[in-house]
Amino acid sequence: MSDQTTDDETLSANTDPVTSWGIVSGFFLLGGLGSTLLIDGGNFVSFILVGCLVASPFWIILTESGAEWYAKEVMDSSPEDLKKSSDTSTSTKSRSNVICQACGWQNSSENNYCHDCGEELGSA
Ligand SMILES: [Zn+2]
Repeated sequence: MSDQTTDDETLSANTDPVTSWGIVSGFFLLGGLGSTLLIDGGNFVSFILVGCLVASPFWIILTESGAEWYAKEVMDSSPEDLKKSSDTSTSTKSRSNVICQACGWQNSSENNYCHDCGEELGSA
């Protein structure tokens, strides 16, 4: 009888941000409406609170901003930490460092000039 399209299919294909936010706000409304039915004396505040509570997991899973927030606040790993670890892995890859004759700065072997003082490397 009902012409409703199954929402389960859109959950798996979460590439579209508009769809993702639609699902999140849908669960927000669902949670909010549920709170008014389940909680005695449910009001606007409980609507918002329960709505956020219900929608937040879907917000984290489906939306980019939610995932970023989760990584920042819950996982406690900033993008800078990821950058640092990738930097160390690349530096260990190119092991041979060229030490500047003028200032002693350790330059990667790919450098022709000192990163610190600009002196030409390996000319001597
Ligand atoms: Zn130097």
